[in-house]
Amino acid sequence: MSHHETRNTTAVLKWCSTCGKNTLHQVSDRRQGTCLNAHASGMSKDQERRNKKQEEIERNPVFKF
Ligand SMILES: [Zn+2]
Repeated sequence: MSHHETRNTTAVLKWCSTCGKNTLHQVSDRRQGTCLNAHASGMSKDQERRNKKQEEIERNPVFKF
């Protein structure tokens, strides 16, 4: 990323079903972008944590004992 575009980027307040509330969404070239709130793609934090633990267990079966 050596070249940085200096195009105007605005944001609109829009309903985000992932956040469950109105959040700012990026808008560029009149196209609605993504929610500006940080959230994992389709996964809740709890789910993510559970997946990580499951991965750990699968990697180290000894972990169960
Ligand atoms: Zn959101």
